Amino acid sequence: MSSNNSAAHKGQLSADETQAIIDMDRDHHLHPYQIFDVFPEEGALPIAKGVGSFIWDTEGNKYLDAVGGLWCNNIGLGRDEMADVIAEQVRELSYASPFVDMTNVPAAKLAKKLADLAPGHLNHVFFTCGGSTAVDSAYRTVQMYNNCRGKKDKKHFISRKDAYHGTTYAAMSLGGKAGDHPDFFDFKSDDIHHLSSPNYYRYGKGLSEQEFADKLVAEFEAKVEELGGADKVAAFIAEPIMGAGGVVLPPANYLKRIWEICKANDILYISDEVVTGFGRLGQWFASESVFGIVPDIITCAKGLSSGYLPIGAMIFSDAIFEGISQADQGYYYAHGYTYSGHPVSCAAALKNIEILENEKILEHVRDVGPYFMEQLNTLRDLDMVGDVRGSHLMVCVELVKNKETKENFPEELDIGKQVSNEADAMGLIVRPIVNLNVMSPPLVLTKEEADFIVSTLRKAIIDAGEKMK
Ligand code: PLP
Repeated sequence: MSSNNSAAHKGQLSADETQAIIDMDRDHHLHPYQIFDVFPEEGALPIAKGVGSFIWDTEGNKYLDAVGGLWCNNIGLGRDEMADVIAEQVRELSYASPFVDMTNVPAAKLAKKLADLAPGHLNHVFFTCGGSTAVDSAYRTVQMYNNCRGKKDKKHFISRKDAYHGTTYAAMSLGGKAGDHPDFFDFKSDDIHHLSSPNYYRYGKGLSEQEFADKLVAEFEAKVEELGGADKVAAFIAEPIMGAGGVVLPPANYLKRIWEICKANDILYISDEVVTGFGRLGQWFASESVFGIVPDIITCAKGLSSGYLPIGAMIFSDAIFEGISQADQGYYYAHGYTYSGHPVSCAAALKNIEILENEKILEHVRDVGPYFMEQLNTLRDLDMVGDVRGSHLMVCVELVKNKETKENFPEELDIGKQVSNEADAMGLIVRPIVNLNVMSPPLVLTKEEADFIVSTLRKAIIDAGEKMK
């Protein structure tokens, strides 16, 4: 726990009250990704307040949250305008069924807004509860589309190792992180295939970036062939920049080349922009603006509401809509959630987008992002820092035992966690993923806050290294 005491806040509790919260949480709350051996001892850090880029725990310790919640705090925490809009919408209409033939005003307006923001022919929006359900919806909609147009054998999905697409059954099966596929869980494997990770730092040894991209593209083509050709392959799914898999920037043009092959062979391209959407890379969506790809489907969530309320969306093409909606065939969309197009979540998302626009936050990211990267790169002088990578406000530092050989620390050392514990104690939250410290700070991050992150992380890495000696 942090020792960064600051002014009391309303939700502040005594040490005993805090312990009581930790105990009830430990006894009754199963956390996403809870690690059963360490959790009983460590418990969870109870967070009680958030403003902008900062959070406070129940004992009043203040932290700069460089993780932005979980890649989702784009406009900053605790905004009055958001509280007002949410309260007004609750008073006006707190819920309405989205099923079949009923809608609500915020859902209709948000669907139109997303169609306007998304690339060219992506004019149709299906609302979900978050990112996983958006990916699941994409998976099912692609299947439906191919069935409706008589291509019932076009069923295989191609993904990549190290990908993360969420944790519903299909989304987790589409994901390709080794740690996410332990043998005590089951996964769908008959129609889902994983190609190599595009992580050049880890897997590009002996190759130029161009050669690495060539290898990945050739692997994609070979996989399509192996599966029986394009008539058997439904879709390729990729995050523009892999997030949870270690902030992996694709080698130049690799994604675009795969998209071109997909386009030429009637294979759908699903761009999972759950993290990259809504400004994290200084653009509404990275697919077209950063990577020159116009996908058939974009999945998004997180920054869509900046985490104020749960919501996700699948934004999809005119062609897919036409394919699934032919009235004379008797088709209907047998898919949907009670909370699809939830009026309060949609009102929050609309306000969030308005704030991103009015405060020119994307422009701000295009300024502060390169500055943050530049400062983070100064950490490369540390012995333990093997790589610093990312773009704008989506970054990570990879810690290594040996810089020359890129040898990792043993996994059981959990070096990322050791560094993040040191950072916690100095009032900085960074996300440990084995040998990585991942960051996706709020998009309203100032340059001073960026400096604080870099200087604190430097000290945390040095201190963790010292303690290992
Ligand atoms: N897709 C990507 C790229 C993600 O990073 C995530 C979550 O981190 C998801 C999907 C799943 O989103 P959610 O946790 O909202 O279901």
